[in-house]
Amino acid sequence: MPSRSENRTQLIESLMERFPHVPREAVIKEDLLRGGIAFDESALSDNEGGEVKPKSYFIFSFDHGTLPELGAAALRRPPEEIVLTGGPYELRRTVVSVRVNPSSPYRVAADDHGVLGLYLDGARISDVGLPPMPDYYRHTLENGKSVMEVAPTIQWGYLIYLTVFRVCQYFGAKEECQYCDINHNWRQHKAAGRPYTGVKPVEEVLEALAIIDKYDTSKSSTAYTLTGGAITSQIGGKDEADFYGQYAKAIEERFPGRWIGKVVAQALPKADVQRFHDYGVRIYHPNYEVWDPYLFERYCPGKERYVGRDEWHRRILDSAEVFGPRNVIPNFVAGVEMAEPFGFKTVDEAIDSTVEGLQYFMSRGITPRFTTWCPEPTTPLGKANPQGAPLEYHVRLLEAYRATLEANGLTSPPGYGPAGPGNAVFSVSSFMDSLPAESAAPEDADAPTQPR
Ligand code: SF4
Repeated sequence: MPSRSENRTQLIESLMERFPHVPREAVIKEDLLRGGIAFDESALSDNEGGEVKPKSYFIFSFDHGTLPELGAAALRRPPEEIVLTGGPYELRRTVVSVRVNPSSPYRVAADDHGVLGLYLDGARISDVGLPPMPDYYRHTLENGKSVMEVAPTIQWGYLIYLTVFRVCQYFGAKEECQYCDINHNWRQHKAAGRPYTGVKPVEEVLEALAIIDKYDTSKSSTAYTLTGGAITSQIGGKDEADFYGQYAKAIEERFPGRWIGKVVAQALPKADVQRFHDYGVRIYHPNYEVWDPYLFERYCPGKERYVGRDEWHRRILDSAEVFGPRNVIPNFVAGVEMAEPFGFKTVDEAIDSTVEGLQYFMSRGITPRFTTWCPEPTTPLGKANPQGAPLEYHVRLLEAYRATLEANGLTSPPGYGPAGPGNAVFSVSSFMDSLPAESAAPEDADAPTQPR
């Protein structure tokens, strides 16, 4: 009888066989994102003093254990991302965000010659590359804060991730989204004595961006995302649109058109959305999280109570009139559809529901995208579902996403870099790895938005 870990190899191989149109790279990437990776000490970084770009914990923990449970990986951070190539599945270059799970059947380790590989069930299945420490991480702000803390980059340097508000005003079991550990992550970094700024001052963000702009001479950084927790009241006298918008305004005044400006915020009324646009934001992510009404109510109690699902969707459609439908890209958390105890019991039902949501938006020219759910153990859904969603759901979603996109005559959304296996840099789901290479949005081709 095969052992539990042998079953995992069989699982990915059977899915590769059943779904030959989904790139093999995406099957493995989804499995790594949903279930995490164990790291041998040889594959850890030396934090900000080494040669490897460390995991920045840019918003959520995206780990399968709390910091004290991660062992050496809590002291010497794992890399931000890994890149897979070669091996028996002949993988094309695949960038994967790092989610640590010491008990994962996937392990990154060095062989006898010091060459890193990804191992599954003890067998080497690909080569592993680590992101080099970027020059801009070697410099600090005048107050001593690191660029990694204030303005980390992800997606192999493509995206500057500005979580300017590190907590969420939806607080506690009755308000927090049931898959989100933003508030816990803030607490655990504070408890570990790590620098972790609750509200990032605008001047610090500008100073960190100036360092990136100066040392990123190849201009790999192409976009920035402004985000953080929901603001239901005010911060420093500013509502959500003005709070997040003030950063965009300052960035666009100081570095006009240098990067594509994006904001991930709540679905706000149209006048507020217009303010985002006026401040210089070019892409708006009013995330709808999960399509099914019953699940939205249970998983997003704060959003349901303060805004409501129907109003949330109406506002998404309204925002397309401000930004243009191509530039409204709401996210959903792929996998929570199947979480116990409320989720769908079969993959068929979960895919049908998710596709209904995709069709609703795509038929109106709006292109949602998704991140692969990481069942963090301090969240209610993570606690109840430590294995996450079935891999088959994630693989079939890739197929269904592409089919719905193509049926609506759309291509990959702007602001995500190149599409296609071997090309994609989007690291927290493989939707970009699974689209045809020629589907990259023309407005995204290598260049940021034009100065206005
Ligand atoms: S709105 Fe929900 S997903 Fe967003 S930060 Fe708050 S709790 Fe997390």
